[in-house]
Amino acid sequence: MKKKILVANRGEIACRIIRAIQELGYTAVAIYETPDNAALHISVADEAVWIGDGPRCDYLNIDKIIKVAKNHNIDGIHPGYGFLAENPHFSQACADNGITFIGPTAEVISQLGDKVTARRIMAEAKIPMVPGTDNLPADETEAVKMALEFANRVKYPIMLKATAGGGGRGIRQVDNDAQMKEQLQIARAEAKAAFSNDNVYMEKVVVKPKHVEVQIIADQFGSTVHLGTRDCSIQRRNQKLVEIAPSLIKDQKLLDEICETAVRAAKAANYTNAGTVEFLIDKDMNYYFMEINTRIQVEHTVTEMVTGIDIVRTQIKLAFGKPLSFKQSDVRIRGHAIEMRINAEDPQNNFMPEGGKTVTTYRSPGGYGVRLDGFVYQGFTIPQVYDSLLVKMTVFGYSWNETVDRLRRCLTNYVITGPKTTIPFYLQLVNEPQFQSGDFDTSYLENHPELLEYKDDDSEVNKLAALIAEIHHKGFNPYAA
Ligand code: ADP
Ligand code: ADP
Ligand code: MG
Repeated sequence: MKKKILVANRGEIACRIIRAIQELGYTAVAIYETPDNAALHISVADEAVWIGDGPRCDYLNIDKIIKVAKNHNIDGIHPGYGFLAENPHFSQACADNGITFIGPTAEVISQLGDKVTARRIMAEAKIPMVPGTDNLPADETEAVKMALEFANRVKYPIMLKATAGGGGRGIRQVDNDAQMKEQLQIARAEAKAAFSNDNVYMEKVVVKPKHVEVQIIADQFGSTVHLGTRDCSIQRRNQKLVEIAPSLIKDQKLLDEICETAVRAAKAANYTNAGTVEFLIDKDMNYYFMEINTRIQVEHTVTEMVTGIDIVRTQIKLAFGKPLSFKQSDVRIRGHAIEMRINAEDPQNNFMPEGGKTVTTYRSPGGYGVRLDGFVYQGFTIPQVYDSLLVKMTVFGYSWNETVDRLRRCLTNYVITGPKTTIPFYLQLVNEPQFQSGDFDTSYLENHPELLEYKDDDSEVNKLAALIAEIHHKGFNPYAA
């Protein structure tokens, strides 16, 4: 019987996963809440099931989703990223109901989702990491006392981090004793709001680090392979904006060592399926384990472009008990890939989300070396209640320079009107010499405020493009008269 797979997600990643399911010859079942009535993942899926009014709460409702899965004879569930992807109870609920969860086991998700536990496992496996603490005590006076002791021992700056953290939330840097109490309160409040868990621990800050991560893939028979590195140093609010593969650090021996360390880390955690081991690298090229993300990542596309491996397809096969069909020595990195997150955000207004607006023009680039993973179309109104990612534009090229040139061409070709987007900001970025050199760290955006100094995209060209699109849309034929 043809397998049926439910995608417990929305937006571009739901579309991405549905395509892989269909390519394998399986049936793709989408779920959606009311604000997503007109979303693309519904129309590309083979079947779609409405699960409630939401907003957001139904995509997070484990009992409801499992019930839908059982009613529709679902064999497997892919959680995508975000929502329930890193919720161990969801993985467990699938297992308890005889449904294949396309991701790691509940035990692995639960251990690695807790940054303090993950650090403990990695310390035992002798994986290098920055000095850090256990969870700070719940009592505020005691917590501040312990925090001050730690900070004065390892020297400022230090970072307060949500133990259950993700998406850059619940992270606060502290530079001196006087800031500690207030920053602890803020970190706890953010952690509580985002993760319903106000546990916070501390790490020494790696000053101006590069964020380098390694894609891992492991089957259920003990084979663990890495798919090389990605650099995700271009961030705002500790959250990624631009990702590249492979890392452009010139010391290939160091990169190989980091990849081997990532495989060791995954093995130490009994990891199965696809995952990402994140590291920070300081200016002296020391590297430190940061965390393991137990899911497919937004930026998996850049790795796919340079390895030729379809990671989502592989995830599905491994989850259903197939062994990895390739060895480490089969994996070859070729060329360069850059992904830019085209978000409905106003970069000039602190990247404020632009949800609720309707896309009035949508004209996307194409051609050699261009990949678009999106879910918007002309006339689509962006629901306000979800995140602001519209499209991931991934560009591939043989050399770094060629890839940057292609990226510039694609950004120039891209026209989205209605919401403000990150495109005009990326056009500035792609012409900036340090970006072009490929040598940047997580302080890059702070150090380049001039990238935000552009004229808003109400340009004549865009107005004209919108007009042409509208005429086209109405079927106007200028030659008919
Ligand atoms: P999340 O789970 O939110 O992704 P991470 O632990 O991966 O949290 O950290 C996200 C980002 O925060 C990193 O990419 C980096 O920019 C910054 N960061 C986190 N920990 C440190 C640290 N110890 N030193 C310097 N930067 C850090
Ligand atoms: P398929 O589903 O086509 O049988 P596999 O399960 O063998 O594919 O592999 C999963 C993914 O890895 C596919 O995208 C495939 O193209 C890719 N792949 C398989 N073997 C290799 C290899 N030796 N080198 C690079 N990519 C490979
Ligand atoms: Mg992270």
